[in-house]
Amino acid sequence: MSRYAHPAGSRHAEILPEDNPPMPPEDLNALDPRVWPATARRDGGEVSVGGIGVRELAAAHGTPLFVMDEEDFRRRARDFSQAFADADVYYAGKALLNKAVARWVVEEGLKLDVCSGGELAVALAAGVPVERIGMHGNNKSERELHRAVEAGVGRIIIDSFDEIERLEAVAAGLDRRPKVLIRVTTGVEAHTHEFVATAHDDQKFGFALSTGAAGGAVRAVLDAPHLELVGLHSHIGSQIFDTSGFEVAARRVARFLTGIHQELGVTLDELDLGGGLGIAYTSGDDPLDTKSIAESLTAIVRRECEEGGLPMPRIAVEPGRAIAGPAGITLYEVGTVKDVEGIRTYVSVDGGMSDNIRTALYGSEYTSQMVSRESSAGPMLSRLVGKHCESGDIIVHDLYLPADLRPGDLVAVAATGAYCYSMASNYNHLPRPAMVAVREGRARTIVRRETEEDLLRLDVG
Ligand code: PLP
Repeated sequence: MSRYAHPAGSRHAEILPEDNPPMPPEDLNALDPRVWPATARRDGGEVSVGGIGVRELAAAHGTPLFVMDEEDFRRRARDFSQAFADADVYYAGKALLNKAVARWVVEEGLKLDVCSGGELAVALAAGVPVERIGMHGNNKSERELHRAVEAGVGRIIIDSFDEIERLEAVAAGLDRRPKVLIRVTTGVEAHTHEFVATAHDDQKFGFALSTGAAGGAVRAVLDAPHLELVGLHSHIGSQIFDTSGFEVAARRVARFLTGIHQELGVTLDELDLGGGLGIAYTSGDDPLDTKSIAESLTAIVRRECEEGGLPMPRIAVEPGRAIAGPAGITLYEVGTVKDVEGIRTYVSVDGGMSDNIRTALYGSEYTSQMVSRESSAGPMLSRLVGKHCESGDIIVHDLYLPADLRPGDLVAVAATGAYCYSMASNYNHLPRPAMVAVREGRARTIVRRETEEDLLRLDVG
């Protein structure tokens, strides 16, 4: 995945390029539409998103600032609901969730998947119809399950034998019978980073098909009087560009569905194939087309079910990154520009690993540009870094910025809508940034910036 390696040893270990830095782009000012949000433009030197210039956004809302292109987000959500017209599309809230985003999702006709009591609370606060919520998690607490069942969430995805017992007890206590799916792991090795691949057997999620655990889980749920088993769930990983993993997983899980029908005489009506579609973080990334993946997954499931004499189940998918990721950018102000002679220039901005941990965590690659003005200066090999006390606090390892870049300029990092704010921290007691939604020339704060008071609020001395 990444061209960079963390040598074994200290967490402060230098991160070394394994090969030469990329060639400079032909035009340092050009915005690649595959990477930048749909409404991003460079007008008169400055970049605008949603019809608003970044200088105005920074002046009004401060930096670092997450800027969500609402139109882009909504369009991607609509693309999914159209491509999967006969299926349920759950937006995976773990990618990015706040009340505004939850409402966009509902308004575009999608459902919402949550994976903790906190995400459920946001969904409920946003007014998401409870039957449109699916709840995940490999270690849901009794309290979380209680809240979910009491509220009446549409689907609970069961992840362990402990959970079958726990959920049965909770449902019995509330005299309810929630609809549940069983999460199975198909043994598919997704071609992605180890920490985001989720369907191989040696990991924490789900019930393995290969060991018979999945079959045992089906029997246990069927024996639980307060659980209504409606289907199966499979999620193979994230940031996947290769259709074969999805296809093999869909085939295996559809075969398992057929096996359940033949052995137990039970017909399960739903098959949730999870999320995981990759997006373009750099010009070299080539995401799968939503429509063609929808067609191929549906065809595989249909074929398997026909061969097994089973009616076609209702398919569900759970895209997160593919909806939120490309719609967001992070705007930073440059604070220091330090040339390490003969090596590269370190450009430090006013955020860092607390608002984007993905580079440090997964070796993710990003695209960044100076956005507050245009420049005709030559390319300067740079490393975009944050302000944390950590040498691994890197946002973009290698990029070319204009050689006349100076403190006060604004840079933006593209495709930060997913898994950046949602994974943000207060490391070094940095307040988390604000998030604005931009659309048709208007900017609206959807998450306010944290303050020092917020940081102290929980500290009771
Ligand atoms: N569904 C499940 C069960 C997940 O674990 C995840 C991500 O971890 C997703 C959906 C969303 O994945 P992505 O954002 O890559 O589409």
